Amino acid sequence: MVEQKFNGTSRPKPRWGGTRYVAKRRFCHFCADKVEVIDYKDPSKLRRYISDRGKIEPRHRTGTCARHQRALAVAIKRARHLALLPYVPEHIRKTGSVGD
Ligand SMILES: [Zn+2]
Repeated sequence: MVEQKFNGTSRPKPRWGGTRYVAKRRFCHFCADKVEVIDYKDPSKLRRYISDRGKIEPRHRTGTCARHQRALAVAIKRARHLALLPYVPEHIRKTGSVGD
C-alpha cells in the first residue's frame, strides 16, 4: 500500500505575490566587457559574484550568462584556493574586507 501523505503542510509556492519583481535589466557583465578569461587573481571583481556568506551567487541574481557563470565558478574556486576569497562566512569576518 502506497499512501502519500503530506502532513497538512503542502503550501502553494510563493509566487512573488502581486508586486511583480522587476530586477534591474540583467546582463552579463563579462559579455559587456568582452571578457574571455575571468581573472581569478582579481578578488575585488569576483567579490560581486559571491554572497555575503561566501557562496557563489546564482546566475539569476547576477545576470551572468551560462558561459561566463561557468568560467566564473572556476575562477572563484581558484581564488578561494589561493585564499583570495572566503570559503565560509567566518573567513569574511576575520579578513574584514575581501579585495585589496
Ligand atoms: Zn557572458
